[in-house]
Amino acid sequence: MTLPLLAQDHTAFNKPWPAFKIMGNVYYVGTDDLGSFLIATPQGNILINSDFDDTVPQIRDSVEKLGFKFTDTKILLGSHAHGDHMDGDARVKELTGAQVMVMEQDIPAISRMTPGGKPHPIDRVLHDGDEVKLGATTLVAHLTPGHTKGCTTWTLKVQDGGKTYNVVILGSIGVNPGYILVGNKDYPQIADDYVRGFKTLRSLPCDVFLGSHARFYNMHEKYEQMAKVGANGPNPFIDPAGYKAHLDLQEKNFRATLEEQQKAAK
Ligand SMILES: [Zn+2]
Repeated sequence: MTLPLLAQDHTAFNKPWPAFKIMGNVYYVGTDDLGSFLIATPQGNILINSDFDDTVPQIRDSVEKLGFKFTDTKILLGSHAHGDHMDGDARVKELTGAQVMVMEQDIPAISRMTPGGKPHPIDRVLHDGDEVKLGATTLVAHLTPGHTKGCTTWTLKVQDGGKTYNVVILGSIGVNPGYILVGNKDYPQIADDYVRGFKTLRSLPCDVFLGSHARFYNMHEKYEQMAKVGANGPNPFIDPAGYKAHLDLQEKNFRATLEEQQKAAK
């Protein structure tokens, strides 16, 4: 999502959600809808999405409720240069010293995100296909542009119950209300970028579908289902069909919006 610059009340965004283990070494530490993930390794942890600056204390509490130290966060990654996912980077860096890594195409937008006047930290510039390694865990950064120029989808392999699963953490491929797909002066290649984004996303093997908003992958329902079936039941987060359905829905919306704007531009 994108927000008006002056929107300060994040109560709805910061509505709490219990921290929980999704699978293997992947944990949910976000809010009711803002997706933040902790990837735990014996060499320290990776956090994906700091959310808003004022969400960070909640994320820290979630990490610590799971039994991890927030100060063991070694690497901070993000979904894309919108405030609801990466505004809190400076505060996480302050509290943990984590290395902040940002996709190159998102750097101009991310550099303008300075809550409380704090400059946005960037310790490593990422490029499409780059790997981020910690302990035995490797994450791959996939450039899936459109929603922002450097929108990033993360993939990793997770071991659970003797099996290996492909996890996809979608950056977002949604066309927000008000997005200009035709004749966009700030982002002339936006429509082509969405096409590229969809193509890349459809090429990624996906068993476990996660993303920067809980609603993308029906997290609430899956969480309830998980509580119902227990630790030995089938993990509801294994949902390749849900991944495909989400891409289909978003692509349909993209095509319809593009067609509408192309007609209006004639
Ligand atoms: Zn967004």
